[in-house]
Amino acid sequence: MYGNAYRDGAAYKPISAAFASAYYGGESYGGMEILSVSPCASWEICGEDENILRVVLAEEVFPGESAQVRIEYTLTLANVNHRTGVTERAVNLGNFYPVLCACEAGKGFYECEYYADGDPFYSECADYSVTFTVPAGYTAAASGQTISAESGGGKRTYTYALENARDFAVVCGESYEIMQTQADGVHILYYYYDDGEAEKTLALLADCVRYFSEKFGDFPYETYSAVQTGFCFGGMEYPGLSMLSDALTLSDYRYTAVHETAHQWWYAAVGNNELEHAWMDEGLAEYSSYLFFAEREEYGISASARLDAAHTAYNALCSVQSQVFGRADTTMDRKLGAYGGYEYVVIAYDKGMLLFDTLRAALGDRQFFAGLQRYYREYSGGIARPEDLAAAFKNAGASGVIASFTDGTAVL
Ligand SMILES: [Zn+2]
Repeated sequence: MYGNAYRDGAAYKPISAAFASAYYGGESYGGMEILSVSPCASWEICGEDENILRVVLAEEVFPGESAQVRIEYTLTLANVNHRTGVTERAVNLGNFYPVLCACEAGKGFYECEYYADGDPFYSECADYSVTFTVPAGYTAAASGQTISAESGGGKRTYTYALENARDFAVVCGESYEIMQTQADGVHILYYYYDDGEAEKTLALLADCVRYFSEKFGDFPYETYSAVQTGFCFGGMEYPGLSMLSDALTLSDYRYTAVHETAHQWWYAAVGNNELEHAWMDEGLAEYSSYLFFAEREEYGISASARLDAAHTAYNALCSVQSQVFGRADTTMDRKLGAYGGYEYVVIAYDKGMLLFDTLRAALGDRQFFAGLQRYYREYSGGIARPEDLAAAFKNAGASGVIASFTDGTAVL
């Protein structure tokens, strides 16, 4: 129940003090209230921070069987430029419904608390069929393919379908313009309200979809929507949908569009436990962006400068930590919350990016890209662990490189 982290008094707050300005109108709270669950023997709200809805089914379910449960709930939105909230110009509905916890073999359901740094999400794929009603003047952008959109009685009702996806998100607002195109059979939609070069943004999104499809494998869905909105970080990825902050410089906006699009391969299609191995999807999204800009110089974003900046940031973190604590902790499989905000970015993004660059130098292009394609093919729609990623390269040296990065012994 991620929506409940936005309530007053939450122990795990969705935004750290450093980003308090996300609450643009001052303090604001929301929350998620479960009204009923049926059929079931009983239900309760539990977890470390009222973040888990635990349902005891009316009847036992055996392997291969299924059960249906109807959950009625109310989500109250805070006024906040974040994943779940009323932003200054739109409404962000990320993580807006109770999502089933991922179930790990031999361990059971994995409970996710909200963490202000990083994306505290970990869920398995499902097929979504969504009916969504907004006031008539609103335009909605969603994760899925739009099956129908009907207006009447001052309202507009959309129905969406999305298969084999680990989440579903919507952004809606009153001032959206839409541009659309096709790339490799994927319907790409760009929703914006403040972009003087919207055509260029759309062309960039299409270029990314084509580039990553060629490098890694086909885009996983029929549609892809990129949506400009209020957001306290650069952006946020959901299956088939990316939120892009309306407060970025043109160059950061383009970089973010590429990074979030890369997450369609690394996070949306190939899932991982983002609370414990954030470097897997963030490192790959960063390195994919590096590859894109290295081959597409016309966008004016220097890939080599980005790689140098990652090196500099990593070395600066090591030197500060060594001075303050006597040693630097550069391990990468720490749980969210065990990092400071800046440290998280340097380890998951910068060191994650350097990991893949080192791996490519060690394996050579042919093996490196064949490994990434195998990884994408084998784990698309599933969940990969660090050892699965290492094994995809079919080279004992790859496991060694990855282990030396994650356990902190690699010298960079
Ligand atoms: Zn990311």
